[in-house]
Amino acid sequence: MKKVLILEDEVSIRSFVVINLRRAGYDTIEAGTGTEALERLKENPDIGVAILDIMLPDIDGFEVCRNIRATNKTIGIIMLTARSQEMDKVTALMTGADDYVTKPFSPAELTARIDALFRRIGGDTSSEGEVIRHGPFVLNIRNRTLEKNEKRIKLTQVEYAIVKLFMQNPGRALSREDILASVWGRDYDGELKIVDVNIRRLRIKIEDDTANPTYITTVWGFGYKWGL
Ligand code: CA
Repeated sequence: MKKVLILEDEVSIRSFVVINLRRAGYDTIEAGTGTEALERLKENPDIGVAILDIMLPDIDGFEVCRNIRATNKTIGIIMLTARSQEMDKVTALMTGADDYVTKPFSPAELTARIDALFRRIGGDTSSEGEVIRHGPFVLNIRNRTLEKNEKRIKLTQVEYAIVKLFMQNPGRALSREDILASVWGRDYDGELKIVDVNIRRLRIKIEDDTANPTYITTVWGFGYKWGL
């Protein structure tokens, strides 16, 4: 699970952020002071993104940011800035933050920024509870849903399993046997044709033009692949 550190001394704001991030599927680590944040980071080297408030009772958020950056170039850092403090945004980026969010912010806004940062820093894309994006598609592995251009596409369990297999192996030719074994299981002794039937149905649901598929393409005499 993706881990996020939240450094914020105001307990009400911190709890609000934590609740919303957990709801969005993140694992959260909390800190109320700069010193505490640096300790938590040492204990949890797998933290992918840190959210840092600026005004803190001990060292300020900029100092925390500098401290983190001195030893860790890869972690994503988002600073929480006050709307009235234009300079803070510049300072935040100067001290090594990747992004900033202005208070007051909505949970959706913060989550979107964290998601974007995890994508940019190339977080662990293989683990469950992730989203896989490709062109107009967003596959949400936790919710088992597929969206195309932000519209939900209703899939059967089998269709979902096929799409997931494809999206986890973009551009790779998968034999019909591979698809059958992966989706129906190695013990399934049905016909390979069931793969073709499901792909035909899937294409109707996801392709722009079923006659000229561009997402699930045919590899003649072999199987199928995701993408052209
Ligand atoms: Ca504060």
